[in-house]
Amino acid sequence: MTAQTKTVLPHRNLTKSNAQFRRAVKRLPLGVSSTFRYWGDDRTVYVDHGKGGRIWDIDGNGYIDHRLAYGPTILGYADDRVDAAARRGMEVGGVFALSTERELVVADRIAKMVPAAELVRFSNSGTEAVMAALRLARAHTGREQYLLVEGGYHGLFDAAMWMADVEDWKPGSNDDPEMVPYGKGIPPTVKQLAHLVPMNDMQRLEDTFKRHGDKLAAMLIEPIQGNCCAIMARVEYVRLARDLCDRHGVMLIIDEVKSGFRVGKGGIQGLMGVVPDITTFAKAVGNGYPIALVAGREEVMRSFGHGGASHGGTYTAHSVSLAAAEECLRILDETPALETLAGHGRALMAGISRILDARGIVHSYSGHPSMFGLFFDAVPPDNYRAWKTSDYTFYDTMAGYLHDLGIIVEPDSREPWFMCEAHGLDASCLSETLAAVERAVDLTVEELAAQDRAGAK
Ligand code: PMP
Repeated sequence: MTAQTKTVLPHRNLTKSNAQFRRAVKRLPLGVSSTFRYWGDDRTVYVDHGKGGRIWDIDGNGYIDHRLAYGPTILGYADDRVDAAARRGMEVGGVFALSTERELVVADRIAKMVPAAELVRFSNSGTEAVMAALRLARAHTGREQYLLVEGGYHGLFDAAMWMADVEDWKPGSNDDPEMVPYGKGIPPTVKQLAHLVPMNDMQRLEDTFKRHGDKLAAMLIEPIQGNCCAIMARVEYVRLARDLCDRHGVMLIIDEVKSGFRVGKGGIQGLMGVVPDITTFAKAVGNGYPIALVAGREEVMRSFGHGGASHGGTYTAHSVSLAAAEECLRILDETPALETLAGHGRALMAGISRILDARGIVHSYSGHPSMFGLFFDAVPPDNYRAWKTSDYTFYDTMAGYLHDLGIIVEPDSREPWFMCEAHGLDASCLSETLAAVERAVDLTVEELAAQDRAGAK
């Protein structure tokens, strides 16, 4: 993710955030608790509070937030219904190294919403859930290797931290992008077990299974790439993956950490009608309270247990998160919340298109209205390599202006725009966002034209 260093528009004052940064960086690496929260020494924002679809920073600047904590905020920040439930959870007393009755209540709700979730185990984060899913697949199949899709992201554990190095890859070249670790500290030996395929390339998928299928424990896929422009897998691609996994005895793991309980009640797997062996959900499960889950086919899930795959954790099924999840999932299941937020996304996409079309700026969208990628090319990308060929400079520049104008989006075009129910219920949210987008687009056009003129001199 690129750190922004551009001049701040006059109306946004970040004096207190800047001072906080200078203090924090002495104690916290980069002054933050997650590297992606660092947006440059003079642009790192410290939040005072959030409510609904908005956040306020410590300088008092208000923002409409389309990052939504990378997705968990499905209803809105500080949702009264979920927070009241979390308070009831607090009265239970924390964690006990024993189980509570509510685990079954929430698991029953999940099984009702997600047909693949015959059995459920709770985790605290997406990383933990996917790590458990891969271990389960390995335990169940007795194999070690696994297949990843370019542009996918599955969390911060070593096995998942391999990616296609598209940034250093030449579009149109006959070579595949190199498989590289996300950062330092990831042992290269782990790479020997991983394989990587480009999304939506049916032939490559078949070839890979032909060569390695009998050694693979799992194929991991995000059918909507929540960390990569919300690139969509084609339904035929996911069906082929299902079929190849069946033929080769490989566990299909659909990672719905971002898409789950967001794009539909049953996730992207429900919309595509593909049933994985194992699936992972996190973010939207508890509207931001830390809870995740690994779920799947009964026969596979029974491999968790004595003599099988290890799973547990001190904080799993914490009473507060579990109570929040019970209420959040009830709302998502029983009310039109998901339609409300998708409707807001559709209106926003239409509005952005009106602005861009009026200026002749070619663009397209990928993903789903509840989490969409805005892409500056005529057709949306169907794999990660296509992102490289689009004009992401325009996006990155525009994102910086949007922050100054009170709209929070990720400063990197690979992160989708997220919607929450509160956006759809907030009467002025749409018009405010579109007014800011219009201004940001014009400022971007001006800035890039000025850069071109300077370059031509
Ligand atoms: N899988 C996917 C698809 C994700 O988007 C993420 C987080 N962005 C993870 C796994 C890891 O989740 P967490 O950050 O909760 O560990």
